[in-house]
Amino acid sequence: MTEVVIVKYGEIALKGANRPVFEKTLLRNLRWALRDLPEARVTKEHGRFRIEGADTAAIQSRATRVFGVVGTSVARAVAPIYEDIALAAEEMLGSAVVTGKTTFKVESRRSDKSFPLTSPELSKRLGAHLLAAHPQVKVDVHQPQVTINVEVRANVAYVYADTLQGPGGLPVGVSSQGLLLISGGIDSPVAGWLAMRRGIRLAAIHFHSIPYTSERAQKKVVELTEILAAYSGDIPLYMVRFTEAQLELQAKAPPALMMTLMRRLMLRVATELAAQKGIPALITGESVGQVASQTLESLAVINAVTCTPILRPLITYDKSEIMALARRIGTYETSILPYEDCCTLFLPRHPETRPTMERVEEAEAKLDIQGLVQDCLSSVEEIMSQPHTAASLYEGGPLITFS
Ligand code: ATP
Ligand code: MG
Repeated sequence: MTEVVIVKYGEIALKGANRPVFEKTLLRNLRWALRDLPEARVTKEHGRFRIEGADTAAIQSRATRVFGVVGTSVARAVAPIYEDIALAAEEMLGSAVVTGKTTFKVESRRSDKSFPLTSPELSKRLGAHLLAAHPQVKVDVHQPQVTINVEVRANVAYVYADTLQGPGGLPVGVSSQGLLLISGGIDSPVAGWLAMRRGIRLAAIHFHSIPYTSERAQKKVVELTEILAAYSGDIPLYMVRFTEAQLELQAKAPPALMMTLMRRLMLRVATELAAQKGIPALITGESVGQVASQTLESLAVINAVTCTPILRPLITYDKSEIMALARRIGTYETSILPYEDCCTLFLPRHPETRPTMERVEEAEAKLDIQGLVQDCLSSVEEIMSQPHTAASLYEGGPLITFS
């Protein structure tokens, strides 16, 4: 008997002709996630991946955070013979009983039709066997504390108890690339993670205002990008010097419009950079109504500077949901470090919440917007963010519950 990790994937099984591409990408990403466990060996089986290796707990924890994975289970692989299956099931239920579980059910699936019992027959016979072996437990088909799953295939049978839920979505790399506008806040890293969950590879852009913002504020953004990179591999991070542009806006534009003008400028720069790098979409952490710049009127005026699609994964999320997700994916603790980001410093006390196109265009007419965009672009420094090794990453289970 050997212990293996079974990896189940959902959505990608539905993708028809694209399916081989999705499976190949998921296989590559699984191997990447297991890179520090060189003995782990991933093989594809019908609609599943099977991972062998000594440390199944470590394998499971790494595989469970790969996008595209809907669930993982540590399974016993035995010969597809009733007696061997029954013994594995008995031992597995035994370990659950020791932890205080008292109810169970058996779920069987048989893809090998030459196995002498049908699935219901196998469940029934195993159920009776388990009741005899563990007289202290009862069957509960509706809400069992333990489900003993049995899958019988041509050359092997798997027996497993728990499935740990993965993030689902699509493997990173199947949906091209997006440029994430990353601040040091709570929202944008979560937005980046959710975009990756749709298979999007990330690049990131950050606007800083050194010396008005500190080196530590920049380091925080690098660290947040590294945490995201721990899910996907290296992420290029483009650092843009925003200081002069902000000073220029502050000197020449009405204070109440500062926020709107800054956001429009950021989007113009991000749009140009994305075009230069061949990146087809932008991503932000905006959420309707959260702050002055995120009223629908404001979003409309900000959005008007670009034709590049902007993904806003958090647009309908409540702050409490975003925070819960930030904690789950490991970015929260870094995001709440106190260092100021560029915008807070230059913000008026009463930003316009419903800016009009007319007033914004009037203010911009007094500025050399194209010159500011070019200056920002010529300041770009690229940092390659490598996967963070110490972050407490997503460990499986539901992402958030919408209340
Ligand atoms: P966050 O928590 O992501 O900072 P927020 O709720 O504070 O978001 P804003 O400060 O209005 O909202 O920013 C809205 C979005 O604009 C951010 O989610 C991010 O995508 C982008 N953004 C804000 N500041 C910067 C910055 N300095 N560099 C890059 N992008 C930024
Ligand atoms: Mg912010």
